Amino acid sequence: MRQNQFYINGKWTDGKETIQTFNPSTGEPFGKIFSANADEVNSAVVSATNAFPDWKNKSIDERTSIVGKVVDFLVAEYGAIGEATTLKKLISEEMGKRLPEADIEVIESSDMVNYYVKNGKELLNRKTLSLNQELWATKSSQILFEPLGVVAIIKAWNYPLEIPLWSLAPALIAGNTVVFKPSEHSTFVAEYLVKLFEKAGLPSGVLNLVSGDGKTGKLLVQNKGVKMVSFTGSVKTGTEIAIECATRHIKYCLELGGNDAAIVADDADVELTSNGLVWGAFCNSGQVCTGTKRVFMNEKVSDKLISEIVTKTKALRQDIDFGPVISESQLKVIEAFVADAKSKGAKVLAGGNRIGNSKGYYFEPTVLTNITREMKIMNEECFGPLLPICLVKSNDEAVKLTNASNYGLGASVWTSDNNKGEKISEQLEVGMVWINDVNVAFPEAPWTATKFSGNGIDLSEFSIYEYVNIKHVNKDLSNDKRRIWWYPY
Ligand code: NDP
Repeated sequence: MRQNQFYINGKWTDGKETIQTFNPSTGEPFGKIFSANADEVNSAVVSATNAFPDWKNKSIDERTSIVGKVVDFLVAEYGAIGEATTLKKLISEEMGKRLPEADIEVIESSDMVNYYVKNGKELLNRKTLSLNQELWATKSSQILFEPLGVVAIIKAWNYPLEIPLWSLAPALIAGNTVVFKPSEHSTFVAEYLVKLFEKAGLPSGVLNLVSGDGKTGKLLVQNKGVKMVSFTGSVKTGTEIAIECATRHIKYCLELGGNDAAIVADDADVELTSNGLVWGAFCNSGQVCTGTKRVFMNEKVSDKLISEIVTKTKALRQDIDFGPVISESQLKVIEAFVADAKSKGAKVLAGGNRIGNSKGYYFEPTVLTNITREMKIMNEECFGPLLPICLVKSNDEAVKLTNASNYGLGASVWTSDNNKGEKISEQLEVGMVWINDVNVAFPEAPWTATKFSGNGIDLSEFSIYEYVNIKHVNKDLSNDKRRIWWYPY
């Protein structure tokens, strides 16, 4: 049986308590992970605290050169599409993602880390401000970007490589040290990733790994040595973290759940839209923060489009096109969402059930129609392979229903007219909109949200500034002994 270890101050060490984890494809034991207690979490925070001064004082070039080696290691893991390299196989076995989706994850991860390796220096170098010379001819201002100290990085399991790296790369390049607590469902991928940083030559203590479940995460957030929390996960946990950080006045960056809508206009291309919605709802078995979770479809295109969606959904093959969901308890959550929708009048056009003859945690890709606002599926995130379709008469109605949600992560718009797509995008109260695509992340573009879906930014130039104190330093260039606005005595 696999057993992970903590990584504290450059040493791999055992914990005391363990948690059993399971392979979602088989339901069989996958490994045991150590669950860090308060002392073990504290050792990791102390190690990161001690490593901070040296790491902070290294030049940006030195820091990016070490992180850059991780890009090379990830590129070496590409292999052929669908080939089970060590890393892709581990991702697939530990959290159930199909190999082609693990491919996307490894490729995207390296591209995103590379973005910060290439651009980190320019983004973090001190900047001189241009002040209004009519008023401030003798003044000169600079902006300094200074690291915060120990950053706690706590992440969900659904993109076990990519999502931690979105935070690790900018946090480390900015000069912070890190204690990383992955999900219990993706601890072995996290361990593999930390070993890549170790191999890259990251000095001891700069990156520490503690494992465990939510209790360990909570202990880490509560540790007073932590100066910032970078979190990806549920709204519930994110809210708890925000409250704890607020009491200590430390920064936090939250990327939380979503209930993303797809707005299908009356001129949507049936072939493109059916392909896109089926992918948007069922990739990673629906366990995607920006997956398509509500469809508002113009009734003029609905007959043909729904029929195509159902055909394409029924064609999806277990273990080739879709994998399991993460756990038995998540299967029960999905069943409850479907039961609630059915009890309120929803029709099941495809799927609708767990796959009972399988030992793993599989749920059929499911298409639901006759969806109404009262259903749970319209108001809460399910995180499973469900595609609920609600018919609308106009784009305005679709926008209104989209915005009637507490969530504000992403949305997709499906139309043959890009101008119309842009106009609809402007009305949506969300952080990201894709026109004629869904759930694509670009290193250059901010990954962001409104409302309950979070309040920080991943990716892009903006993300690196989450991990620094932006300091303004102003100096006076004159020899005057008194400023004109000072007392005249
Ligand atoms: P959770 O909030 O349950 O867990 C996220 C992480 O926090 C895990 O490492 C978890 O550990 C840990 N954790 C749990 N409880 C606490 C606590 N009280 N204090 C500190 N840490 C804690 O989220 P899920 O695992 O359910 O993840 C799925 C959610 O993440 C979905 O809502 C999804 O939409 C969202 N998500 C958002 C993304 C975005 O970019 N906006 C991207 C990906 C996912 P453990 O797992 O071991 O319990």
